[in-house]
Amino acid sequence: MKVLLRRGALGDVVLLGAVTSRIGPCVVVTDPRWVPLAGRLRGVVSALPWPEIPAGEVFDLQGSLGSRWLAPTAARIDKRSIRRRLRLLWSGFPARPPVPALYGEACGVLPAPPPWFDLPLLPRDALALIPGAAFGAKRWRPERFAAVGRAWEGPVVVLGGPGEERLVDQVAAGVPGAEPIVEVGFARTLEVLARTRVAVAGDTGLMHLAGAAGAAVVALFGPTHPSDGFFVYPGGFVQRELWCRPCTLHRRERCPLGHHRCMDLTPEAVNAVIRACAG
Ligand code: SF4
Repeated sequence: MKVLLRRGALGDVVLLGAVTSRIGPCVVVTDPRWVPLAGRLRGVVSALPWPEIPAGEVFDLQGSLGSRWLAPTAARIDKRSIRRRLRLLWSGFPARPPVPALYGEACGVLPAPPPWFDLPLLPRDALALIPGAAFGAKRWRPERFAAVGRAWEGPVVVLGGPGEERLVDQVAAGVPGAEPIVEVGFARTLEVLARTRVAVAGDTGLMHLAGAAGAAVVALFGPTHPSDGFFVYPGGFVQRELWCRPCTLHRRERCPLGHHRCMDLTPEAVNAVIRACAG
């Protein structure tokens, strides 16, 4: 049995679908929070909590010191970490390949395009708004999410993770008829993503889940950049060309310059990309 190691974060685990779809029956070892979700990726026969590594052919897609210690002889991802860091200093430095290509390189398969979950085939008429993000500098203003929701002619859902209840309710309150969904786990979230046509999100884990579930994704990039290899979904993105971007690989709570202009994106610009995606 093939065994894939990827502890986290959520988006990194969702991206495993590009290789689990191709590699054949496999086991994923991941953070306990992501075990039920990883078990639903196409090709995965079971998911186990880190660090329970069963016997088999092991592929280390975490590529950390901890995973090297756990599986010293595994085939291993080359994350091009130095190249990523150099791009923070000079954005003209060549971008690394997309993450699914790096996973595929380590596993010896060509990555599959999304969707990576087998979900019911339903009419896709909903707009999903995903206003949260683990790090503050990636968040767009809630009232702008609501303005985008009001412009959609169809059902609107507002999705978030535990701890984002107030934010999700705030956005949903600004869109007549919008359904707020915050849950532990992803069962209900995947149900609504099966009928989502377009998802609007910052650079965050639920953005990946929406794309992996087959929605077109309109991603709002601020302190991070789409060329970092994580944005691999049908759809488009909205961003501002600023000299200070990107200023982080992921973890930045506040703008170091104080103005946070990178996320000063207008609802009109976002709606234009939504219209192009929705057809
Ligand atoms: S405005 Fe520039 S420095 Fe501030 S968070 Fe955005 S990218 Fe970083």
